Amino acid sequence: MIRAVFLDQGGALESPCYGTEPSRLMSDTFEGLRLLQRAGYAVVVVTHQGGVAKGFLGEPDVHRMKAYLEARLIEEDIPLGGFYYCPHHPDGKVRRYAVHCLCRKPQPGLLIRAASELRVDMGQSWMVGATLDDIETGRWAGCRTVLLTNGHETEWNLTEPRWPDYIAGTLLEASQLIALSSPRGVTQVPLDRLSRPPLL
Ligand SMILES: [Zn+2]
Repeated sequence: MIRAVFLDQGGALESPCYGTEPSRLMSDTFEGLRLLQRAGYAVVVVTHQGGVAKGFLGEPDVHRMKAYLEARLIEEDIPLGGFYYCPHHPDGKVRRYAVHCLCRKPQPGLLIRAASELRVDMGQSWMVGATLDDIETGRWAGCRTVLLTNGHETEWNLTEPRWPDYIAGTLLEASQLIALSSPRGVTQVPLDRLSRPPLL
């Protein structure tokens, strides 16, 4: 079995994007991903593409986004371990995608599918995202979680299942934290490196 770090594409990996244009990779992304790779984690992207349900883009567009991302990462010698997306939205206009699905976060469907297909040990894996929905998704799937406080979360509906294990300002910081964590779940990070979740 492998260990994985699941990354929300919009909040953790890239600047915000909605549409068919490839979005910009965040500046310290590559350094963080290399760190995760060296620490033995597969990098798996999980992303909402509700624009498919809303009719703004088609699944071929999502596949093109994936191809662009994969190619860009390969240029940096970083293999993409997996790419999973939810094309649904309950308020969508395209009937076949306008459903309450099990893969739209905070439902853990994307992670569970990845775990099955990639043979991921979820207890030794992490979910990194920028919203509490990402955190809840990771918790339901059995991962440890890191919340990136980069402004994507605005509602702060902080119930118990949405409480992150750690918070970090950037993907690079999250990657450093994960790389320093022991496989058994005892985080060997100097105390001054740890942050408490907000609103405590
Ligand atoms: Zn879905």
